[in-house]
Amino acid sequence: MKKTVSVVAVILIVALALLLAYDGIANKEASAEFFSMNTYVTAKLKGADSAECAAQVREITEQLDKKYLSRTNEDSVVFKLNQNGGGDLAADEKLSGYISVLLDICKKSGGAFDFTLGAVSDLWSFGSEPKIPDEAELIKALSESGYEKLKFSDKAIEIAGGAVLDLGAAGKGIALDEIKAILAEKQIKEAVVSVGGSVLLMGDKEFTVGIRNPDGNAGSYIAKLHIPEGCVSTSGSYEQQFEENGRIYHHILDPETGYPADNGLVSVTIVSESGILSDALSTACFVLGYEKGSELAKAYGCKAFFVTQDKKIFAENGAEEFIGITDKAYTLVMQ
Ligand code: AMP
Ligand code: MG
Repeated sequence: MKKTVSVVAVILIVALALLLAYDGIANKEASAEFFSMNTYVTAKLKGADSAECAAQVREITEQLDKKYLSRTNEDSVVFKLNQNGGGDLAADEKLSGYISVLLDICKKSGGAFDFTLGAVSDLWSFGSEPKIPDEAELIKALSESGYEKLKFSDKAIEIAGGAVLDLGAAGKGIALDEIKAILAEKQIKEAVVSVGGSVLLMGDKEFTVGIRNPDGNAGSYIAKLHIPEGCVSTSGSYEQQFEENGRIYHHILDPETGYPADNGLVSVTIVSESGILSDALSTACFVLGYEKGSELAKAYGCKAFFVTQDKKIFAENGAEEFIGITDKAYTLVMQ
């Protein structure tokens, strides 16, 4: 009898030890922090494969920029397309798929989102020393740009002279989609990956994401979103801006004028299952302004938050269930 009890006790102790060891492996944490795509990238991962995946997050982001999206790396596909006025995309099925999604947003936003504005953006020099462009140069660059001048089929793209492909409004979201596809195949229980203003949330829990205070620094928030897994992107005029003669100029441009979009918004946040949609739509909705932007977000089935200069937060398409205002200066408006 005594012997049986001790055997059972040993079995129980071994089972408990194995369980604890398994739990330790399954909840292993790893993180990564680096600069890529002209922005800060952070990843916090939990799961048996977390260490391996943290390294992969870096690899995926850097390679995506270097091989595909960069406008300055001479080896990237986008650089070559711009250099050669287009090219064959048969070998780049993925990029071709992304371009097709973005072209649809160009059309559905009535051209407020336009990924051929590279030459116009360059004149503002936000990446280096920002300045108001020369009027004649701006008019010329604007007249040569325009997504309607693009000829696109899944195999090839033709870019009219002067237009410059710039996927900067969606690159961070594309990175999230690429990262998500890899993490989904690994032993990862939870992941929070942020590429600039775009965040990927993976895991069976409720996550908290802040909406940044447009007047504060990067760690200051006006509201908190409590959301399940998915992608959240914010486009804000505070991200890149300069002041001249008492006026603020920022990097999100209205393709009608070539000047920064000026419609009373300071930021737009979009929640979507897709990274490319959340990123591109946050930029598109920022340019469109609250009313038309809200329609576009609805057309894509996305929840959206529009923050205005007069400190209102419009929650659209059922988005109000996610938000808690933390800065009393702001008022939540629900339609
Ligand atoms: P985001 O920070 O995602 O809102 O993207 C802003 C970037 O998108 C800018 O730095 C430009 O490279 C590009 N961009 C600016 N205006 C537009 C526009 N109207 N449509 C598409 N891309 C734009
Ligand atoms: Mg964007």
